[in-house]
Amino acid sequence: MEPIISLKKLGRSFNAESVALKNIDLEIQKGEFVCIIGTSGSGKSTLLNMISGIDKPTEGSITKPANVAMVFQNGALLPWFTALENVALVIESQQKTLTKKAVQIEALKYLELMNLKLFADKYPHELSGGQRQRIGIARALAVNTEVLLMDEPFSALDTATTIELHTELIKIWKETGKTIVMVSHSIEEAVTLSNRIVIIENHTVGHIFPIEIPLPRHEQSVQFMSEVNKIRAVFLKK
Ligand code: ADP
Ligand code: MG
Repeated sequence: MEPIISLKKLGRSFNAESVALKNIDLEIQKGEFVCIIGTSGSGKSTLLNMISGIDKPTEGSITKPANVAMVFQNGALLPWFTALENVALVIESQQKTLTKKAVQIEALKYLELMNLKLFADKYPHELSGGQRQRIGIARALAVNTEVLLMDEPFSALDTATTIELHTELIKIWKETGKTIVMVSHSIEEAVTLSNRIVIIENHTVGHIFPIEIPLPRHEQSVQFMSEVNKIRAVFLKK
């Protein structure tokens, strides 16, 4: 089967001293949920930016769908627009023939999916971090692409909210069949969510771990803990 994303000998340098990524060979299959982990500055965001098309490689090649959606760390919402308007904007920009009413109905559908219907008319500053991040996810889903990219989407949230959003993300992933590539700084989060964990090391792909534990995964299970420990040992080189 053709991979939906294919990176070949991909590299990104900002200048002679600053190599963010080098020699990345990676294929991602349709419907996979891949988590990227690595130390700070290892090139994770650069990798996602290249898959999204925000940034371009300086070496190698990339094959990917023309349009991909991205969820950022802090929601990246427009502060002077309501929750509904933030989602409506992307729908409007994609489907220019829709009436204003049809756009609103469509936007509301995505807010509902993220349990945000009651907050449609609120502005970002009136919402909690978790709610803002839900809007960021609703907006990315509204872009209606096969590939969903997420750059540390839950790292600013408390544990209970994160667990809640993990459950919702898995549900969405199962229902939509989207391909998800998510950067995480947490091994536990990566083991909770993904099919495959890619460790970025020395600015290239260091290790790849397939995760075969059935969903939903429980942090207390022996299988889960042994997987986390295995990855931690490699990650921390112990
Ligand atoms: P991560 O997301 O893993 O923390 P990044 O992908 O943001 O890492 O950055 C990887 C490396 O590339 C870092 O050393 C960073 O300083 C460098 N870098 C990222 N963006 C730029 C830029 N626009 N100009 C110069 N260097 C950059
Ligand atoms: Mg980053």
